[in-house]
Amino acid sequence: MNEELLDRLAGSACPFCEGPVAAGEYKGTRAAVCGRCGTPTARLF
Ligand SMILES: [Zn+2]
Repeated sequence: MNEELLDRLAGSACPFCEGPVAAGEYKGTRAAVCGRCGTPTARLF
């Protein structure tokens, strides 16, 4: 995973609740996180 993947995921719909996915952080790592349910759809390690 990389920043390009994160950019692609940001703006897409969450696969779980179809809420808006935005680039952010999850547990201290860069991640694409759903703005509605808070589920990370991708994480950068
Ligand atoms: Zn969601």
